[in-house]
Amino acid sequence: MGKNLTGDNSKICSPQGNEHSIPLSVFLQKLGVDENGLRDQEAASRLKECGANILEETGKESIIKKYLRQFRNLFSILLTVGFILSFIGEYIDPGKGNLYIGIALAGVVVINGTFTFIQEYQAEKTMESFRQLLPPHARTLREGKVKEILASELVVGDVILLEEGDKVPADGRLIEINTLKVDNSAITGESEPQLRSLECTHPNMLECRNMVFSGTLIQSGNGKAVIFATGQNTQIGSLATLTQQTSGVDTPIRREINYFIKVISTIAISLGIVFFILASLLQDVFLTSLIFAIGIIVANVPEGLLPTVTLALSLASKRMASRNALIKQLESVETLGSTTVICTDKTGTLTQNKMAVNSIMIGFECLVLENPASTKKTITEQDISESTNKADVEKLADSGAEEFCALKKPVWDPEKLPSVFIRVSGLCNNAKLRESAPGYTGDPTEGALLVFANGLEDIGKLKHDYPRLEEFPFDSLTKRMEVICRTPEGKLEVYLKGAPEVVVKMCSSSLDSGGTRKLDETEQQELLNRHLNLAKKGERIIALAYRPIEELREYTGDFIFLGFVGIVDPPRPEAREAIAKCHTAGIKVVMITGDHSVTAESIAKDVGLANSGNLEIITGNELATLSRADLASRLKNPSIVFARTSPVQKLKIVKLFQAEGEIVTMTGDGVNDAPAIKNADMGVAMGSGTDVAREAADMVLLDDNFATIVNAVEEGRTVFDNIKKFIVYILASNIPEILPFIAFVLFALPLPMPVQLILAIDLGTDMLPAIALGKEKGEGDIMKRPPRAKEEKLLTPPLLFTAYAIKGPVEAIAGFFCYFAVLFEGGWSFGEQLANNNPLYMQSITAFFSAVIICQIANVFASRTRYQSVFSMGLFSNRTVLVGIASELLILAFIIWNPSANLIFNTSPLDLRYLLIAVPFAILLLGIDELRKYLLRKNVIWVTRYLKW
Ligand code: ATP
Repeated sequence: MGKNLTGDNSKICSPQGNEHSIPLSVFLQKLGVDENGLRDQEAASRLKECGANILEETGKESIIKKYLRQFRNLFSILLTVGFILSFIGEYIDPGKGNLYIGIALAGVVVINGTFTFIQEYQAEKTMESFRQLLPPHARTLREGKVKEILASELVVGDVILLEEGDKVPADGRLIEINTLKVDNSAITGESEPQLRSLECTHPNMLECRNMVFSGTLIQSGNGKAVIFATGQNTQIGSLATLTQQTSGVDTPIRREINYFIKVISTIAISLGIVFFILASLLQDVFLTSLIFAIGIIVANVPEGLLPTVTLALSLASKRMASRNALIKQLESVETLGSTTVICTDKTGTLTQNKMAVNSIMIGFECLVLENPASTKKTITEQDISESTNKADVEKLADSGAEEFCALKKPVWDPEKLPSVFIRVSGLCNNAKLRESAPGYTGDPTEGALLVFANGLEDIGKLKHDYPRLEEFPFDSLTKRMEVICRTPEGKLEVYLKGAPEVVVKMCSSSLDSGGTRKLDETEQQELLNRHLNLAKKGERIIALAYRPIEELREYTGDFIFLGFVGIVDPPRPEAREAIAKCHTAGIKVVMITGDHSVTAESIAKDVGLANSGNLEIITGNELATLSRADLASRLKNPSIVFARTSPVQKLKIVKLFQAEGEIVTMTGDGVNDAPAIKNADMGVAMGSGTDVAREAADMVLLDDNFATIVNAVEEGRTVFDNIKKFIVYILASNIPEILPFIAFVLFALPLPMPVQLILAIDLGTDMLPAIALGKEKGEGDIMKRPPRAKEEKLLTPPLLFTAYAIKGPVEAIAGFFCYFAVLFEGGWSFGEQLANNNPLYMQSITAFFSAVIICQIANVFASRTRYQSVFSMGLFSNRTVLVGIASELLILAFIIWNPSANLIFNTSPLDLRYLLIAVPFAILLLGIDELRKYLLRKNVIWVTRYLKW
């Protein structure tokens, strides 16, 4: 065991470069370790000396660059042009207030950029903290025991255990292998999996097969390695290529926002140009016209949009995290909402992954364990560990086994259950027994078999008496596992377990009462037919076989068939409801499993997949052979089950659906699932899955639960809805911001809404309410609507129409009404010009501004729902809206009554009367929107066509 090294410990910290070529004994001696691993104390001191096993991130965008990036969007550019022009205006013709506008606009650009930056920065930190919830772990041998430690705590000399799906945590030399294959593409670019060996096969370390390198992946098999380089000393550390995860992919929401910015900027610029031309023609004052043009542009740009979108997304991702769904990239929140197809694994996601042996068939005879699990939908952990013990088997002889199996009465006395049957169950098995529920660790199928075997014979003793010499691990493609063990008599035996159709085909004889009998093809078929009786109950069937052998190698024929084991895995209780929710939400649920179609069908029916119509079952073979057109027509069904599918076929399934125009969410946990997860619109990995799958995914499910995906879809839909809501809200105030300029130019009115007040709305009063709308809960029908059509934009004509042609004009009318009320009562007559510092003018613009704010209060309230009556949402269900409204009122009061604010905004205290005149307009706005929603709910055609946003 790792002894304390005397002398220069730092020598071990950095590799010498010959670790692959020196004899293993020298290598181990140099690192001061043996096959039992290091002592804890020694590991701790090495960790201190050599440092943590962490790679420094390079290629990360600097914080300054990140900040400056916020100013690259079209909105900021427009506003920047605006403030530069204002400063030029001030320079040419000083003292006309252009300086203030310029300063205000520059302030807006800076504040807005900073705010967006803070939002993004915080969101990034949140995402990072999510990632840290899933720290990479490594299994090491320390003091002779297997320990799970953080990969960052690995030290040189540690012995690590590697298994399929692991990401290699540091550079190591292999000391034990079982058909170990690695994917070295992260280092060499070579993506073909490479078989490893214990020999040094190449003078170049990177090419040498006895090496594993940090950052590469274990494709299949398993093995042990001794670490000789960690952190920056590893090959990948010295390559310094580790860059941050890409964030450049175009998510649907980013495309939408970019489109939105483009449309609104085009409107702003075109209106600006038109009014510049009009104003210069009519008034012939170049500079004033230029400033008006700027005003128009500023009025059109929803300055608060970008930070608000980021905030809404990050709030949603936090809510999702609290519901066990960790999003890796902020914008994928919304992608999930647009999902039309969810492809899900069966085991663990739709079922509980708590497996227990329920039935056995020995040779041609069927036995059924009296497992409470078979009669209950939900089983407890206790049920599982108690069900597969000897007592249950003893009840077999007189149990109504034939009822289940439709076979003749069992003739096997459980006491005489062939010991080789138990050996195959317990020894062709990599699970480990554990005291606590469910009684094992490792693969649940194997765990169930192990617990079953251990109920009949002491597995520890068996392992000792029948040492394992060779293993050919389970693989979803071959669907079988073989081990070779030595019997106490010194003979060799291969134990085989796997999918029935695979194993039975490899058997030439079968156990039969008292002996063995030859199996011809008809009898092989008969066996396969019989196993279907177990599969019909939703059991996963494993076939067992063995054969005595002479030499160590993989065998593919001449086995003696032992029997079948039926394993139950009860559905998750919440899966049914979640599937029903998907069906009402118009989302297709597709179950993908490696299990037999009969087993799959039974589970599918159990979880309610068949409730939405006929169940379409497509097998892996059909998937491989059917034509594209045939498959496409079968994919139309709302419920589809893919059975006996290999993980590699998942990618084909994703592509098939995508070709049909669907937005696909795909779950997975294994190495082979990674390509499908990556290619799906939304890749979902299980928290308990492999490193590889988690790396490829956009979202990680901490609880592996299907219902969590559906909850996350709901959040995603809500986010899209909420973004629409606040867009309608902020766009509506553009009209009362633009019309005053038009009126000013066309009718020579004293300008009712100067630029400073426009900014006070866009960046002051509108801000908090818009953010509050981002926090709105989903409307009651959010999971009753069909998924958003692919072509449905964030910015649709009905949305623009509602904001610009209904809500906006009501606000503008309210503004003009109050403005004229003040002017006329103050003795103004049409056509009369008023100086900027005229108290009547100051009051009139204050009245206009106040009316718009009062209407916006009604607007924020109305915008809380898209289709349902806002009164169905409950006044206090989103308290932030109330805070937002309070902030609007406070800012309004400040601008009206605070003397310094009066100076900045050119406003003046106002008689309360003028504020009250605006209230009926606000009520009108709310009423019209309620009517729109009512008509929508009644499906009135023209309303649906023109006003459904
Ligand atoms: P699901 O996600 O529904 O569990 P899967 O794709 O993971 O399905 P596989 O694990 O590939 O399915 O299993 C395919 C078949 O291989 C099973 O139906 C079973 O008969 C057999 N099988 C599963 N696990 C093992 C194992 N550890 N050893 C031997 N055979 C197995």
